Amino acid sequence: MSKNKNGLKIFEMSCNGKNVTKGRFESTWEEGKISTPATMNLDTMEVTAEMVEVDNDMGCLLSEKFVSSDGGAIYTICPHCHQYALRTVSIKTDSQRRIISQELECPQCK
Ligand SMILES: [Zn+2]
Repeated sequence: MSKNKNGLKIFEMSCNGKNVTKGRFESTWEEGKISTPATMNLDTMEVTAEMVEVDNDMGCLLSEKFVSSDGGAIYTICPHCHQYALRTVSIKTDSQRRIISQELECPQCK
């Protein structure tokens, strides 16, 4: 992100004009982890990852996440469609600002 002369924030766009961030798609399986290069559209939360061959010895899929390469923000991938990152729709904190609970929602499945 950078600022123009008027102090307005302008997002750096990728070459195709979308608000896209690069990173890695990481899936955790019973028998190990798989990490592939991926991109995420910050407007739609859609994650596009390179396809990888997974052999059946990996066991069950435990979790998936997108880790952005700038700053390392981590997004949980929807366990239903495996294509969108979950948005935080509400967050509850205590008086010390510790997170008590948060509600996540898939922009596609809801
Ligand atoms: Zn979903």
